[in-house]
Amino acid sequence: MLSQKRGRTARWIRILGHGIGWGLPGSTNSYANSYTIRATENANRFPAIQYAAASEPGDLGTQASRLLMCFVARGVLSRRDACVPNDPVATALGSDTMEGDQYSLAKQELRRQVVIIGSGPAGLTAAIYTGRANLGPLLIDAPSDAEKQTTPGGQLMITTEVENYPGFSQGVQGPDLMVEFRKQAERFGTEFLEEWITHVDLSERPFTLFTDDSIIKAETLIIASGASAKWLGVPGEAKTPKGFGGNGVSACATCDGPLPAFRNKRLVVVGGGDTAMEEATFLTRYAARVYVVHRRDKLRASKIMQEKAFRNEKIEFIWDAEVAGILGTQEHGVTGVRIRNTVDEEHFTLDCEGVFIAIGHKPNTDLFKGQIEMDEVGYIKTSHRTTATNIPGVFACGDVQDSVYRQAVTAAGTGCMSALDAERFLDHLPVAMPTGEEVTIEGEHISPDHLKIIRANGEVVMNEPEVAFAEEK
Ligand code: NDP
Repeated sequence: MLSQKRGRTARWIRILGHGIGWGLPGSTNSYANSYTIRATENANRFPAIQYAAASEPGDLGTQASRLLMCFVARGVLSRRDACVPNDPVATALGSDTMEGDQYSLAKQELRRQVVIIGSGPAGLTAAIYTGRANLGPLLIDAPSDAEKQTTPGGQLMITTEVENYPGFSQGVQGPDLMVEFRKQAERFGTEFLEEWITHVDLSERPFTLFTDDSIIKAETLIIASGASAKWLGVPGEAKTPKGFGGNGVSACATCDGPLPAFRNKRLVVVGGGDTAMEEATFLTRYAARVYVVHRRDKLRASKIMQEKAFRNEKIEFIWDAEVAGILGTQEHGVTGVRIRNTVDEEHFTLDCEGVFIAIGHKPNTDLFKGQIEMDEVGYIKTSHRTTATNIPGVFACGDVQDSVYRQAVTAAGTGCMSALDAERFLDHLPVAMPTGEEVTIEGEHISPDHLKIIRANGEVVMNEPEVAFAEEK
């Protein structure tokens, strides 16, 4: 049951010379002084263990030995796993020595009615609703990681002022808004787990999610893992103070375009798709001039969006051009972009005060590839009327299933929908699927025309009133 492992020290059994401390995620461990050892309630595998060791190191060793012997006696731990060299436990158990000095407990197994992946507006709204419905949601979000560009709280955590979220007449800072979302979800009992999900198994219910430290079984799963803006990866683009991200460089015109810093200024939009056309057109409301810098001489955008942009007198196209770097100072922000012509390799500088990168978004769905229906870009497909995916019991909300609106308020809206869908599903009510079928938690499919019911065992019956009811009538 114990396995040797490298990595997150807090979750490890650690040999302290004169004793053993042990703990599971969520437990309180203070190895050095108080020797308080408390197993988390989540340790379903060890339900009876609530162990507080005495404050004396000698006692700790003895009590830990007893505890571990008890594990061995019950078959929870192997004799070998429970022992370490030169330790009272080893002596007490008469074990052989082991190599190394750190051992991890088996992964904790959590089982929940509703598990939500993602802590942006969609995931947290789903948490608020399922929490209020007493479904005890567990919300898993990725730890903050600059390299992987993950931030608990989603894209609003990297936005400055949000002026268009209803209810905030004077606007609100993106991170402040997300703090309020999170507090509200906490208020209704949401449990948070900050861990990387390494893989998932959606082939059967309960669905299984694996992290480094946990195995999570979910009766229903709400995927709200969002989407990430793609970046060019050129000098000057990184977040301030390393570059000018947040100080003249943005990946969201709707979020940042109306800010005073961009008003009556020269702005560059990079990209040739619908997003670039939409953002360029939107920015002309505020900007003095908008330059669309595109790497080819043809746009990828739909005809209608192209024509709208071509008609706009404030927009100028710079063809066959790539942004090679963003120029500026921390004091004044962006002052220009260095452009490379993709045909003749010539470089020149274009003066501007803002740069909007609009080269597409990438839905965060790699984890689910091959297991759930997605469109060609990787957005999860949901039913028109609900947030149901093709897998009964799995729902998707927010940017992970929305390539069109991508607003915080629409994400929150679909988060609410997915919570209600999950609740209905758990209440055994049929949920509409993308195929037009309706599915119940028992695995019954109701045909799109509502004429037939296909039972979980494959039996097909007509969707008619019960005979007794029909006779009564
Ligand atoms: P797209 O993938 O359609 O377009 C991305 C654009 O960015 C392309 O022109 C591409 O160039 C360019 N690009 C990609 N990588 C780089 C790079 N490294 N350097 C320079 N340029 C680069 O993404 P969109 O976000 O525009 O659209 C995504 C989807 O969302 C589409 O299906 C679109 O129709 C939809 N959408 C719909 C809207 C609407 O209906 N209102 C609004 C916005 C999006 P190249 O063409 O050379 O590949």
